[in-house]
Amino acid sequence: MKRRWPFFIFILLFLSGCQNPQLHLHNVFKSIDLEIRSHSKAYHLLVEICNRYGPRMAGTESAGRAEELAALLFRSYGFEHVFFQPFTFNQWQREDVRLRIDTAGSYVDFQALSLAYTPSSDIRATIVDAGNGLSNDYNGLDVNGKIVLIHLGLLPGTPSHLRNTHRAQKLSLAIAQGAVGCIAVNPIPGNLPATGSATLDGEMIRIPAVSISCEQGEKLRIRLTRGPCTAHLYTRNSCKQANARNVVARLEGYGLPQETIVVGAHLDSWDIAPGALDNASGAVSVLEMARIFKALNLKTRRSVEFVLFMAEEQGHYGSELYVKEARKRNLLDGIRYMFNHDMTVNTYGFNLMGHYESEDFFRQAGMLISRTDSAFANTIEHITYMGSDHAPFLMEGISTFTPLCRYQTFHTYHTSEDGPQHITPEMINSNIRSSAMMVYALANALSLPASRMSREQLRTYFIDNQLQEELVISGDWAWD
Ligand SMILES: [Zn+2]
Repeated sequence: MKRRWPFFIFILLFLSGCQNPQLHLHNVFKSIDLEIRSHSKAYHLLVEICNRYGPRMAGTESAGRAEELAALLFRSYGFEHVFFQPFTFNQWQREDVRLRIDTAGSYVDFQALSLAYTPSSDIRATIVDAGNGLSNDYNGLDVNGKIVLIHLGLLPGTPSHLRNTHRAQKLSLAIAQGAVGCIAVNPIPGNLPATGSATLDGEMIRIPAVSISCEQGEKLRIRLTRGPCTAHLYTRNSCKQANARNVVARLEGYGLPQETIVVGAHLDSWDIAPGALDNASGAVSVLEMARIFKALNLKTRRSVEFVLFMAEEQGHYGSELYVKEARKRNLLDGIRYMFNHDMTVNTYGFNLMGHYESEDFFRQAGMLISRTDSAFANTIEHITYMGSDHAPFLMEGISTFTPLCRYQTFHTYHTSEDGPQHITPEMINSNIRSSAMMVYALANALSLPASRMSREQLRTYFIDNQLQEELVISGDWAWD
């Protein structure tokens, strides 16, 4: 009998080695689901980050403490390779703002917030309604020397072929048209102005730009149809050099360690926002995925880097630094996917951002995810934009994707109301569950459909996905 043990062990090892890959994935997915159900720390962590650290604008003391916490957590989960990527950047600081609008002879104060990188100013000028603030809105419109009123979303009745662009692009257009100031309307109802960066290059813009609420914007637009209207815009702001750090935890692959799946989210928020949805939701998703991989002792063929980027809000500084470091060390070819988590709750599928060659892989892995998680609809979409940490990776031809998320009608992005009270544990766990499963599937696949695009393929990609105009306006178009 004694002599038979090695034989049985051999048979067991043989069977586990030959396990059907689908069955293996399904079993791992079930263990991820069970781990989340019984031990998820994500919601608790989200509340702690928002309540204990509050707003975490990159370069501030609270942001520095949040960086420390993230590194401590990664280490406590069992990661041996945890490191900071420090950098210096031009931090914008909000000081004072006053917006007075002349409504038929008397000035009325509007609640306003400066958009980031708005300079100090004191101007009086006529307001001109420039609709959505897209290039077609300026046809036949003279805004030279005026203050433009623009909607940051798309107004009802906008032709369906028009795409919205980032507020920074809208500001560039207004400046190019000769506007001396800008009033930008928050497209989301809720009686709150919303902040956000008015530039993508991290320098003060040439004109002051302030945000007002959706409701006040609507009133002002109606007021402008009745006759001319002027505004007095007073802003005080400054810039200074500040320090911030990305936090990285690396899980070394056992088979193809030089290939990496980057799973990232920004940890910073705006100065006026607790940043629960934007972006404690994404940051705790990345932290919790990292915890699950260690708690379940999951081994991956490829390496996985869990990254918390800093200073996304002020201009993607952290993700740009990460890409720059990878370029210096010749590691860009090894990054097979960048999976970005920015405002990630209620996940029902994946946005493959125009990487159509990845569809079959995601659909098949997604079918297995929906067998474990019946709420996961396995929807695949292709929505493209440049306004988050995936952008520096995309600029290098790397395949990027994000979770597809369902938001509530009232959501609090970039406002003082962006607290944990609008998020439930299940909203956040739904993202972690399907995302962790997809990361495991990608990191362990025998082969992956994505490869890094050449410069020429990237040019075609940007044109096909209607990103060319956006890149030209921001000065990032590197071709003809
Ligand atoms: Zn964000």
